[in-house]
Amino acid sequence: MPDSFGAKPSNMKWISGILMTVTTGVFAGNNDAVQAVIDLTSVQNDKVQVVVDLPDMQESSVVYCLPKIVPGTYSIYDFGRFVSDFKAIDKSGAEMAVEQKSVNEWKIANATQLDKVSYWVEDTYDATYDNPIFEPAGTNIEEGKNYLLNTFGFIGYVQGQKENDIRLTVRKRPGDYGVSPLQAIQSTADHDIYHLDNYDKLADAPLMYGQPDTASIMVGGAQVQIGVYSPNGVIQAAAVRDNIKDLLHAQELYLGGKLPVEKYAFIFYFTDTLGVSGGMGALEHMNSSVYFLPEMPLNEEAVDMLRDVCAHEFFHIVTPLNIHSHEIADFNFIEPHMSEHLWLYEGQTEYAAHHAQVMAGLITPDEFLRRMQDKIDMSQNHYNDSLSFTEMSRRCLDEYKPEYTNVYQKGALINMCLDIELRELSGGKYGTRDLMRDLGKEYGMNRSFNDDELFDKIAALTYPEIRTFFAKYVEGNTPIPYEDYFARVGVILSAPEKEKKLSMGNVALNMMMGEEGPVVEVVSTDGMNAFGKELGYEVGDRLVSINGVQISEVGPMQAFESFRTQTKAGDPVAIEVMRTNKKGKTKMVTLKGTAMEVEVNKPRQLVVDPHAGSAENTLRSAWLTGS
Ligand SMILES: [Zn+2]
Repeated sequence: MPDSFGAKPSNMKWISGILMTVTTGVFAGNNDAVQAVIDLTSVQNDKVQVVVDLPDMQESSVVYCLPKIVPGTYSIYDFGRFVSDFKAIDKSGAEMAVEQKSVNEWKIANATQLDKVSYWVEDTYDATYDNPIFEPAGTNIEEGKNYLLNTFGFIGYVQGQKENDIRLTVRKRPGDYGVSPLQAIQSTADHDIYHLDNYDKLADAPLMYGQPDTASIMVGGAQVQIGVYSPNGVIQAAAVRDNIKDLLHAQELYLGGKLPVEKYAFIFYFTDTLGVSGGMGALEHMNSSVYFLPEMPLNEEAVDMLRDVCAHEFFHIVTPLNIHSHEIADFNFIEPHMSEHLWLYEGQTEYAAHHAQVMAGLITPDEFLRRMQDKIDMSQNHYNDSLSFTEMSRRCLDEYKPEYTNVYQKGALINMCLDIELRELSGGKYGTRDLMRDLGKEYGMNRSFNDDELFDKIAALTYPEIRTFFAKYVEGNTPIPYEDYFARVGVILSAPEKEKKLSMGNVALNMMMGEEGPVVEVVSTDGMNAFGKELGYEVGDRLVSINGVQISEVGPMQAFESFRTQTKAGDPVAIEVMRTNKKGKTKMVTLKGTAMEVEVNKPRQLVVDPHAGSAENTLRSAWLTGS
């Protein structure tokens, strides 16, 4: 066990402080409760056993299921894939017949006799399978080290009975601690018990077990807990807290000084390898978020990434927590209906994450504009800018799946323009931040809106012109004329310029995790430049090293970075690749060339217009500084 995972006296004290407030007896006499047990103490073949004791069934047959999809992911995951040895047990202890209806569904006849189901669950982190699960939504079983329990990956529900109370017991190794947004109703050396009002609440509550490394901070009246797993002890919870503290306080200020939650947990899994999905990032929950990020020293770059992703996830406490439609409130885990309002759930969240930083002075207006410009470039170059955003949202699981990630680009920009429009109509006084507060009052945690009423409601709360904005740029397929919006706040695009940049040859690379480490493969040489031609890349080449830096040792990102920082034009370059010839023989080939810079279009920057009028300057100041 790495040093940082030794039990820290101060943490332990804090943990026991939490447990002091335990209340018991919540469950006495509740026959409708589902009693689920996840046993982390007897891992077998990388699997843990789950036993779900069910209340008495009235139906002659029932279907037990695990989620096909979970909130916030917008992808089909089929958690039933990881279940094996599924058994239904009757009240006399005998095994019952089970018919598996689909990958996620098990049908049990004679259900009035059903007592419990039991099965084994394999984790999603190290299994090899198609359609990999994005790690923040996945499960990890690393015996003796780390157990990431996204509960929906372990526990299912009886169809039609999602509303039952659940008593969740986690059996743990002595000394292990569970980081979670939940407060245990009972906690001993070898188990913790949690109570949840229904399956939606359970699915929304991740837990991470292992040796404790936690830190906490009060933000806006809420107790925020930070739990870290860093396999090589590179990152500690206290360091994460110190690096995001001012950010969380800026968000608190942005939200008016009070958070809509009482407890919040940041659950960090830092990884020293690329995960099965090849992605890094996070998944939000109502009062927690789960992170899968690279385990690297917290230098400036790492801290910037950490702050941006934390700011985004934390702001999800506004939406969808307090502002959401029926589709989100009563989530269908098997046949999901997607809400059309991703511009709100993801777009507003992403916009506010950056806007709060500029409002609090943590970043400069120039930096804020640079980030927005990046989003404009991304959304225009990589996505369909004339696609209705509501239409995309409704069909983001299938037809428009490749467009989904535009929620972080154009989704944020829709909110930026909405903010400018609201500011203009209100003489600078009212923006999206105020709108979210008003929508939170109108709806809130327990009151959902209908998908088709939201735009009218917002127009009624604000200005009729806003309805036209939504009709044209969010429901409609008209691309947003960003320059018009920027002109209103005295911001223009800088003149086009060229710049010289060190090139790696301009070939398209695909990065994935292979069985023996990261694989970086040339997938297209269509846009290859003179340097690429000199090296002589071929489609299918797998990069091994760049100027002696082994990709398997440092990872592809670090290898590219050291090439960029340690090479100058004219230097000799040697790139080792594994190449398979037509006869199927694979051997190492060294590609040689001379480093060169190529002329590229310098990204145009958003800058303050020196000729802007005072009305524009005043509006910009209201928009970016709140005064
Ligand atoms: Zn999000």
